Amino acid sequence: MTKNKYIKYCIVGVLAVAVVIGIYTNKHNSQVDVEYTKFLTLVNEKQIEEVQIGNEAKLRFKRIGDDTKYITDNPRTEGLKEKLLLHEIKVSENTGSNMYMLQYFSSMLLFVGLFVFIFKSAKKHGGGSMMSLSAKPVEADTLTQNFSSIAGNIEAKEQVQDVIDFIKEPDKYVKMGARMPKGIILYGPPGTGKTLMAKAIAKEADVAFFSVSGSDFVQLYVGVGAGRVREIFAEARKHKKAVIFIDEIDAIGKKRSHNAANSNDEKDQTLNALLTEMSGFKDDEGIIIIAATNRLDMLDDALLRPGRFDRHIEVGYPDINAREQIIKLYLNNKPVADDVNSTDLAKQTVYFTGAMIENLLNEAAISAARNNIAVITKQDVQVAFYTVIAGKEKKDRSSITHLDRKITAFHEAGHALVTKLVAPDNSVTKVTIIPSTKGAGGFSMNIPKDKMYLTKKEILNQIKICLAGRAAEEIVFGMDNVTTGASNDIEKASEYIKSYIMKYGMDEELGLINLGIIMGQDRVDNQMILEKCSGKIKELYEDTKKIINENHSILSNLAESLLEKETLEESEIASFFQ
Ligand code: ADP
Repeated sequence: MTKNKYIKYCIVGVLAVAVVIGIYTNKHNSQVDVEYTKFLTLVNEKQIEEVQIGNEAKLRFKRIGDDTKYITDNPRTEGLKEKLLLHEIKVSENTGSNMYMLQYFSSMLLFVGLFVFIFKSAKKHGGGSMMSLSAKPVEADTLTQNFSSIAGNIEAKEQVQDVIDFIKEPDKYVKMGARMPKGIILYGPPGTGKTLMAKAIAKEADVAFFSVSGSDFVQLYVGVGAGRVREIFAEARKHKKAVIFIDEIDAIGKKRSHNAANSNDEKDQTLNALLTEMSGFKDDEGIIIIAATNRLDMLDDALLRPGRFDRHIEVGYPDINAREQIIKLYLNNKPVADDVNSTDLAKQTVYFTGAMIENLLNEAAISAARNNIAVITKQDVQVAFYTVIAGKEKKDRSSITHLDRKITAFHEAGHALVTKLVAPDNSVTKVTIIPSTKGAGGFSMNIPKDKMYLTKKEILNQIKICLAGRAAEEIVFGMDNVTTGASNDIEKASEYIKSYIMKYGMDEELGLINLGIIMGQDRVDNQMILEKCSGKIKELYEDTKKIINENHSILSNLAESLLEKETLEESEIASFFQ
């Protein structure tokens, strides 16, 4: 069920409650409450025609020649009825209460009716589809995609190989005392092939594929989602071996709120049912749960613990090589003109996901067919480009401007250059301008040598490495054009310098003291520390800029190479320094 439908049902629910409240308010509004003494006066003045007495707190009465319904406090005294009769007033007992009950009953009926309507509709739209999914998995022989349907994603494929083997022969692993993951989480941006991977695993292992989306559970009523989870697992067990795929696991598995008011019973119950089912099946059963999410960092820790989803596999944006393979895969079954070059196309499709590439080539094929030509030409691909890009959301990575890429390339080249020059022992294993799923524009992987202590020089060099991205931006694009891309680097550099001054006793002027201990944590002279830290960082930033300026040509070569290839591996980076 979509979010819109969910909102629709909420509105109907609120309306139902409003109708019921309306009926009551209306009923009470049409009754005029008078004081008991006033009522007695009216009785004495013989202005009352009829009184209804029950056991309720209020009694109702009608005045002569007046249609208004009056109520007053019911004294519940024994002689009241006789007194009224002596004043020639008609007295009826419990009638009012019956009328009241009737109104109450009909309102309840309306409310229950609406509730049943909402429930049935929800089931039809949301639950029903899940019910059919849980009852009917896709059997392995009807699954069409296997490992050869996935291009690129090499690391992810490698990381699931043993899982496939385990599903096929769980005993082999159990005998070795190996504990296989019960659950795998595939994480990465939408369209990068997570669902495809899950299906391919089921196909390769030759088992049934159960599929459900976390968002389907969200709008169900308390207890229903948990029931569905148990149903799916029971069904999977009947198949003995199976892959259960839960897309959008974050919809039920977000970090739980410690604030009771924000907790969502249905989500929590569904999640608990899932965790219970997962701990319930034995290691040798050959059932694997694969979940997919765009945001691993949002998931509840309980989901990620050993024995649950303890293997986390990134399915990220494809790099240029992976894109070329995806392009070849999808061009393979299409008639293509010679002017369509998959290498060139891979260069043009920066930040495209597999799904977008598939879409692009499909649009190109449609364009060729529409023009009644025999093969897909370069022109068709160009037309498709605009269709695909224009039809996309702004936040999509493919709309990242050329300037943004250039800034990222120089920023990352700055980090790599300074690392290689000031810390040659560190290995720079990878530099990329492909954005990470955690939101960074690019990154350079800088692994310091494995050692127990950091020297003073190494800490200062580490700070220079942090500052090098911003320094390169300033040198190439000017002071006014530096970007927010350095915020993480600045955070790290600040942590280093704070410890350098306050903890490690490395500042020459202050000497070997821990400022917090000497002055008391709450009495540390903040102004003095601020001045020390910022002075030292400024000095190190100047040093960093000097290093980059002296090696400007290497910086440019690195950046250009990054713009062309997007990712540089260790040996490629090293070649710039020979
Ligand atoms: P996700 O689950 O990550 O959102 P999907 O698996 O649904 O992405 O991908 C949608 C489609 O995009 C797939 O069915 C496939 O056609 C295509 N696709 C995505 N990644 C790849 C890939 N690495 N290789 C081949 N096709 C891909």
